[in-house]
Amino acid sequence: MKIKPCCHYCGNSQHVRKHGVSRARIQRYLCMSCNQTFQVRYIYHSYESNVYQLIDKMLSEGQSHISIARQLGIDAILISRHVLNADIDQ
Ligand SMILES: [Zn+2]
Repeated sequence: MKIKPCCHYCGNSQHVRKHGVSRARIQRYLCMSCNQTFQVRYIYHSYESNVYQLIDKMLSEGQSHISIARQLGIDAILISRHVLNADIDQ
C-alpha cells in the first residue's frame, strides 16, 4: 500500500521523504521543508484501522508481538504480517 504522507508540522507533502524506520519498525519520514521527522500510521479501513493503529501504538511503546496479541485478543501472526507489510513499503 502506497501512502503519500503530509508533514505533521507544516502540512507539506511535496518535500517529504522516507527517513528509515523507528526502533519499533514504524516508517519514519523527514520533511525537507521544515526539517522535522515524523512517523506515519498506515491507513486501513473500519475495524482493521483501529486494530492496526493500536498495534502501531503498542509497537512504538516497545511491546512485544506476543504481548500485543494477548492484549488485543488477536493472533500474533496478524501483527507479524502487519509489520512485514510496513517493511515492504519502505
Ligand atoms: Zn514540514
